[in-house]
Amino acid sequence: MQYQQILNEINQELKVYERLGEIANYIPELANVNPDKFGVHLSHIDGGNYSLGDSKEKFSIQSISKVLSLTLGLSLVGDSIWNRVDVEPSGNPFNSLQQLEFENGIPRNPLINPGALVMADILITNLENPKEDFLKFVRKIAGNDLIDFNHKVAHSEAKWGFRNGALANLMKSFENIKNDVNEVLDFYFHQCSIEMTCQELSKTFLLFTNHGKIPETGETILSSSQAKRVNAIMATCGFYDEAGEFSFKVGLPGKSGVGGGIVAVLPKKYAVAVWSPRLNEKGNSYLGMEVLEMLTTKTGWSIF
Ligand code: GLN
Repeated sequence: MQYQQILNEINQELKVYERLGEIANYIPELANVNPDKFGVHLSHIDGGNYSLGDSKEKFSIQSISKVLSLTLGLSLVGDSIWNRVDVEPSGNPFNSLQQLEFENGIPRNPLINPGALVMADILITNLENPKEDFLKFVRKIAGNDLIDFNHKVAHSEAKWGFRNGALANLMKSFENIKNDVNEVLDFYFHQCSIEMTCQELSKTFLLFTNHGKIPETGETILSSSQAKRVNAIMATCGFYDEAGEFSFKVGLPGKSGVGGGIVAVLPKKYAVAVWSPRLNEKGNSYLGMEVLEMLTTKTGWSIF
């Protein structure tokens, strides 16, 4: 497959779509990013690398980190996490409170904010130094010791994180948060503040292309059955109330973040990351979705 040629073609055709969508501004520190940044990196499992634009510039991975906290949770405590978080698409925005009240504090899935807050709570219970240990885990999968939190972004979100505070407190009232609510929020805001380039992010997600094994080292992080489940949850829940649309248009498991990143996986072949900070009304990167739709259309490959 001529990946670089396909990416170049996409770049040409994209000119038409430029400048649609709005940057996330409810986290003040994210609003300082140049909205016209644009990068793509495709990491192939056979070692091939293909890219476009600002693919070597770091951005805030935000909700993409939810896949990594789910992975660490699954690898540490296994199936018992499913007693505290479900695996159904929510059909609601990522920070919605309504469903959580009806459903007695059990989040619909681990990729919406309440689900990620429960995962943060599980990790705090099971890790000695939660934030440091999580970062170490991410660095291991990424094969890169320079991956780090952006403390400014974490503090900026903490200052304005009233909805996340409400979600965590609501779940605490249902006894589905065991640790101190502020500690859980602090962990969550830090995990979301992790920064990566498109190149680093796509390499990290080769874990899910490769059935739970880090391709570079051969280390097993998840069993192939667990990796299948993480991919299934990305495919059904990775884009909140736009998960159906993403599946319809792109047809790959994937995850978005309000920093404008999207990462998607074609099992056995590649992981691809796109970064464009302008978001559509559902909080997903406008151009990111377009690029991935073009990629699967032009290659003729998706999970379907
Ligand atoms: N940290 C962001 C929040 O909690 C993450 C949301 C997202 O990326 N969709 O609001």
